[in-house]
Amino acid sequence: MNRIRKSDQVVVLVGRDRGKQGKVIEVQPDKDQALVEGINMVKRHTRRSQQNQQGGIVAQPAPMYLTKLALWCPRCGRGVRVGFSTLQDGSKVRTCRKCHETLG
Ligand SMILES: [Zn+2]
Repeated sequence: MNRIRKSDQVVVLVGRDRGKQGKVIEVQPDKDQALVEGINMVKRHTRRSQQNQQGGIVAQPAPMYLTKLALWCPRCGRGVRVGFSTLQDGSKVRTCRKCHETLG
């Protein structure tokens, strides 16, 4: 089970976007990277095409290493380390290591 998954709210721990929050758009487990909404934005010059009538400069997120991200804990109000626990029915959940809140 992954520490960080699609649609998670995460916080950036290091780099240019340190402290910023965003939602995970996509996780690339084979590369240990994730795309996060509004984080690590890069400008790409695109050519005018059928799909993109306007062309020009488009800002889009570039992949971030998962190690640079922390899962957001609503109870702690910060990015936290994730632990795992097994429920009585055998399903695994992620928990906040700090306050032990279940994070799904
Ligand atoms: Zn917490």
